[in-house]
Amino acid sequence: MSNPSLLILAGDGIGPEVMEQVKRIIGWYGDKRDLTFDVFEDLVGGAAYDAHGVPLHDDTMAKAQKVDAVLLGAVGGPAYDDLDFSVKPERGLLRLRKEMDLFANLRPAQCFDALADFSSLKKDIVAGLDIMIVRELTSGVYFGEPRGIHVEDNMRVGINTQRYTEAEIERAARSAFELARRRNNKVCSMEKANVMESGILWRDVVNEVHQADYADVELSHMYADNGAMQLVRAPKQFDVILTDNLFGDILSDCAAMLTGSLGMLPSASLGLPMANGRPKAMYEPVHGSAPDIAGQGKANPIACILSFAMALRYSFDEGAEADRLEAAIEKVLADGARTGDLMGPEGGTPISTTEMGDVILEALDASL
Ligand code: NAD
Repeated sequence: MSNPSLLILAGDGIGPEVMEQVKRIIGWYGDKRDLTFDVFEDLVGGAAYDAHGVPLHDDTMAKAQKVDAVLLGAVGGPAYDDLDFSVKPERGLLRLRKEMDLFANLRPAQCFDALADFSSLKKDIVAGLDIMIVRELTSGVYFGEPRGIHVEDNMRVGINTQRYTEAEIERAARSAFELARRRNNKVCSMEKANVMESGILWRDVVNEVHQADYADVELSHMYADNGAMQLVRAPKQFDVILTDNLFGDILSDCAAMLTGSLGMLPSASLGLPMANGRPKAMYEPVHGSAPDIAGQGKANPIACILSFAMALRYSFDEGAEADRLEAAIEKVLADGARTGDLMGPEGGTPISTTEMGDVILEALDASL
């Protein structure tokens, strides 16, 4: 059997800094757990534009299609703000998502006990929180036709269309049910079936997929507006939340903020299974390139490291090793390790990006 393969696209700003720590952790798994990855590296975003005049070279795109998973840092920065839209750094990211057909966006909201005070909610509501939002990413109202602004009876009218096919709903639902089986086996599907036909179809198709292939998973339905309320009232009632592109955009940001800092938030985007059974996949932190702190060794690498933990769990079936990595992060936070973004009002001395990598590696060693 060949080693699983990873393409690392570190990108711009703090992207390469946080990815450096991920590379050390990947090396640790090879040395200490006999889990060796074939790692390839390439450019994306501004870095690719500087080298090739495009934010993603065709060769890089071809490599991304071949590997088992892509790990991305961050793209963008002030040097590229005035570029033509067609070559902006973000276009590199969008091309990857589009051509790999990554239709399911996974955003976990996980609250480490040591950081529960960072949440805007009361500690007991968020401590120990671990939920996952699966957002359909490639269809719905952001893509539906007709769309545009035109004039009717001397008045401007803005139009967008919420449109979902059965196939689009079905594949998103399958992603959510598959994930739930690797977690706590519960899916709550959110739409507005009370006022939208697309919501009625969404609910029907989710039920059909459930009955046909996932009857072992506990399924419930909720209107998305109630879902937003429940997320801030009692978020621990959820395991996996399945929702469409528009509601997912809003609900995943809301859920992310339950947990505090941007430097802690990982994500994954998954597509259809490849010939080897693994889904097409890209893992990346939610944060951007943070130009205000880039190059200063201040960036928190945990969001990027947790993105690699998601890759272990969802691309490589290494759930126990993902647990090990998350437990190591939980331990260093409990021991008081903090990068600048995690400093509370009580102050203290922040550690650097590399030092955070050091203590996580020590905690991994201690876990053996
Ligand atoms: P940002 O996420 O880069 O930064 C927002 C704030 O959070 C900044 O103060 C930053 O210092 C802080 N921050 C972010 N990540 C951190 C980390 N790991 N550790 C410590 N602090 C962290 O968002 P922005 O400032 O709006 O955007 C900066 C650039 O990044 C822009 O060019 C934007 O287009 C791009 N961007 C890229 C992505 C991506 O690559 N997926 C996402 C968002 C923004």
